[in-house]
Amino acid sequence: IMPTHLRLRRRSFLGLLFLFSLSTSALYFIYSAPGIVNEYVFMVQARGIQIRENVKNIGAQVLEQVVRGAYSANGTDYAYEFNVSESDAPPPTYLPEGFTYLPSQVCPERLLSMSKFSLDLKLRHTVTSGSQPGLSGGTVKLPDCLLRWEVAILVPFRNRHEHLPILLRHLVPVLKRQRLQFAFYLIEQGGTEPFNRAMLFNVGFKEAMKDLDWDCLVFHDVDHLMENDRNYYGCSGMPRHFAVQLDKYSYMLPYNEFFGGVSGLTVKQFEKINGFPNAFWGWGGEDDDLWNRVRLANYSVSRPPGEQGRYMSISHHHRGEVQFLGRYVLLRHSKERQRVDGLNNLNYSPLVSRRPLYTNITVRLNKELAPIADY
Ligand code: UDP
Ligand code: BGC
Ligand code: MN
Repeated sequence: IMPTHLRLRRRSFLGLLFLFSLSTSALYFIYSAPGIVNEYVFMVQARGIQIRENVKNIGAQVLEQVVRGAYSANGTDYAYEFNVSESDAPPPTYLPEGFTYLPSQVCPERLLSMSKFSLDLKLRHTVTSGSQPGLSGGTVKLPDCLLRWEVAILVPFRNRHEHLPILLRHLVPVLKRQRLQFAFYLIEQGGTEPFNRAMLFNVGFKEAMKDLDWDCLVFHDVDHLMENDRNYYGCSGMPRHFAVQLDKYSYMLPYNEFFGGVSGLTVKQFEKINGFPNAFWGWGGEDDDLWNRVRLANYSVSRPPGEQGRYMSISHHHRGEVQFLGRYVLLRHSKERQRVDGLNNLNYSPLVSRRPLYTNITVRLNKELAPIADY
């Protein structure tokens, strides 16, 4: 690294050289140069922030592992045998270039052309909500093959209005390309209780099933943007974890049992595990409990291979959101609670409204809506 005074001297030398080579037509350049310099400074600054954020995230995850370790040493938490086999799965094959869809043929799970990282992630800064041509009520039926999955995409929501159009704008074209029948359900938490992501998913599931006999459920954070459109949002024989590599965790799985961000289960699988727990109020743990439920039901978790599971998350602050500190204790009793807390003990009164791109379900939540029997 050059000492500051030398850098300055070099910069002023370059500046002089630059002035010498001025012509009248270059006057515009003088005008815009400070902007260019500024931009460079911002880039460097952003880079610094990014590195700091990464260090913070990794630090948080290390701490998490330490806490987990402490809890599982004397308890049963995370004591199940995990054997995630999908990393041994054979590499996926893709459709040949000349492939044509046939109306009589079931749609393939693969995409015709790989668009690895070609999704326009820059869109996230510029999109506004608007209607999507050819999409009515959030569902789409494409005629060129028999759609394989009917997918309800459930998005838990409170006060993230800036994220929603970005997600929809990003995901709708992908799902159309993947030839899925789909609809979005936004489950918005009213009231002032801490956020309950899991309970919102349970509500969303029950409401969605009143519309259509969906066969596949995708549980989707509003701020997660897939980077690879080969990350197929259909279901599979096993519950699926889609959001494997997040930019905020430097594209590394934070821990093997991580089941957050975006996951998917068939209706049958979801009913078998009694849905999500209702008892997780505030940030954290509900996805870990879902993992435990899945594993306790003898399912394994499948994941997209390689870089297909990459996501970018829209950065946000945790505006006054509370961490759920009781999560570790609850997680130690995933097994016993699974039967008494979930789809089967949940009451609620929703307010449903249909929007062009999604169905909005607003619901006030509190603990009394999901009483838990002794276990
Ligand atoms: N969420 C929301 N409003 C909130 C908190 C959470 O809409 O106040 C929803 C949203 O879909 C979000 C998800 O719950 O993506 C997970 O919460 P958050 O993004 O705060 O978790 P983190 O990114 O820290 O894992
Ligand atoms: C929380 C999870 C969360 C994960 C990654 C864990 O400590 O319990 O809910 O998804 O960290 O942020
Ligand atoms: Mn988030």
